[in-house]
Amino acid sequence: MARDYCESMRAMVLERAREPLRPMDLPVPEPGPGQVAIEVRACAVCRTDLHIFDGELTEPKLPLVPGHQIAGRVTGGGERFEPGQRVGVPWLGSTDGTCRYCRSGRENLCDAARFTGYDIDGGYAEHVVADERFCFPLPDGYDDVEVAPLLCAGLIGYRALRMTGDAERLGLYGFGAAAHLICQVARSEGRRVFAFTRAGDEDSQRFARELGAEWAGDALGPAPEELDAAILFAPVGEHVPAALRATAKGGVVVCAGIHMSDIPSFPYELLWGERSVRSVANLTRRDGEEFLALAPTVPVRAITTEYPLERANEALDDLRAGRIEGSAVLSVL
Ligand SMILES: [Zn+2]
Ligand SMILES: [Zn+2]
Repeated sequence: MARDYCESMRAMVLERAREPLRPMDLPVPEPGPGQVAIEVRACAVCRTDLHIFDGELTEPKLPLVPGHQIAGRVTGGGERFEPGQRVGVPWLGSTDGTCRYCRSGRENLCDAARFTGYDIDGGYAEHVVADERFCFPLPDGYDDVEVAPLLCAGLIGYRALRMTGDAERLGLYGFGAAAHLICQVARSEGRRVFAFTRAGDEDSQRFARELGAEWAGDALGPAPEELDAAILFAPVGEHVPAALRATAKGGVVVCAGIHMSDIPSFPYELLWGERSVRSVANLTRRDGEEFLALAPTVPVRAITTEYPLERANEALDDLRAGRIEGSAVLSVL
């Protein structure tokens, strides 16, 4: 497939933390060995993008094209995919394949991992190149905008849900992009879902009930009954002791975000009774394969708010302000 790599593309670029992304014309990236070239159709906005923008994740490449929930079409490069095939690019961009984590099925913890839209230019652009081994074929039954949020909100949510074992009474703290997807999976597995939001956030509470949560209320208030596990999606350290207080003996509190404000000190009594607190870091390719096979069978439906690429700054502002129901997605074509 002949392509003119001299052409340029539109991209939204982070030059410095806390400065608005700048619309720029960049050269269309050319695939190197083992890389596939992709025409981006949609890229969902993740809270991690906000942590990068805000300088809370401190070592992005700069200038950077953010975005790690990319749905697009292969235009060339690599050997694994046909031109025209629909693929997704997630947060995990590459690993060394050799460290003790990679060799033990824990590539999400790889010491030398590189991440899309952080170490590698991502999908807030018309084109992207990616290591073909870390891309996923995308399931049918979703358009590009609907499928994009599955690639991080869905995957990380799924990994976090697995960490809760067979917990029946599940608390979800923060009801944004990841929770709205994983609530649907949890309900399909017969779990009971309790949604914990900012006090008085009636829109999020109604949204959670619409998606099958049987209760929705204040994250720092009392839970209606004991939980068997909780997943914390909101990056709020105060939620850790609150969730421990709500969780039954033997239960786990899973922190699913990449960044969180400091956790306040709390009495040991909250942890006693074999409760545990753990984090979830990144994803493995296996998580992606499992979740993208599972999603259409539920079926998991992403509720999206669409923005044209040029309005990426507005999408980030709306995410920060909690104005988005479900996932914000940049539509690129
Ligand atoms: Zn993400
Ligand atoms: Zn490794």
